[in-house]
Amino acid sequence: MSIITLTPLASGSKGNANLLTWGKNQDKHLLIDCGIRIKAIEKTLLMQGLEATQLSAIIVTHAHADHISGVAPLARKYNIPTFMTKGTAKFADLKGVPLAHYGIDQPFELEGLHIHPFTVPHDARETAAFTFHETETPDKKMGYLTDCGHITPHIETMLTGVQALAVEANHCRDMLMNGPYPYSLKKRVSGDLGHLSNEQTAQLLGKLSQALKKVHLLHLSEENNCPIKAKNICFKALNNPKAEMVVAMQNNPAPPLTLKGI
Ligand SMILES: [Zn+2]
Ligand SMILES: [Zn+2]
Repeated sequence: MSIITLTPLASGSKGNANLLTWGKNQDKHLLIDCGIRIKAIEKTLLMQGLEATQLSAIIVTHAHADHISGVAPLARKYNIPTFMTKGTAKFADLKGVPLAHYGIDQPFELEGLHIHPFTVPHDARETAAFTFHETETPDKKMGYLTDCGHITPHIETMLTGVQALAVEANHCRDMLMNGPYPYSLKKRVSGDLGHLSNEQTAQLLGKLSQALKKVHLLHLSEENNCPIKAKNICFKALNNPKAEMVVAMQNNPAPPLTLKGI
């Protein structure tokens, strides 16, 4: 049986990194983003029983520091092929990094894994989200979506039918508006090119609930969200008491989001 797992190693505005594992023997691995220090990622990978040399690739969503700051040091040290859009590459120091570009809405294959990048509205050039499935099982799909200002019809189309989803639930709108951020930052975070609120994420989950059985909530703001609040509103939207939901945290790896194939 093929299984895809996604393990959030770090999640939040201080740094993001996610480990994706696939293959019949669960022997293929890549990182989605690396916005934490090289020592921290090495240590966290070891906690998962892995060394960085076992990574087939790093896939980068966009050029914000909380997603990319650790990418170049890690890729250089271990010579890891690193995939990003040209728009992202423009804003990063990538000297010595084995670089490959992917195009938005141009799916590609990596060692039996089908990766479909799609565009999301965010204030970084060519920001991407993804769906993943094993090449042999196209109907068993996982989605990954963070750093997204609002849900577009295209995002809904791309995520329709996913059985497992890792998705941003960045802030509670009330906590953000009544919280400590300066007005300009509140506007940025809640804006059309900012981040998804619990309410926006819940609305998306409601639309995907027919196929969706497992959800990980990512990129929660430590200042402007409450994990229990986020989970309550998002779980309710799934309208399925048997659904599974995990909230990923900033400083500790979360349990994996698991999608079983055939
Ligand atoms: Zn971010
Ligand atoms: Zn961002």
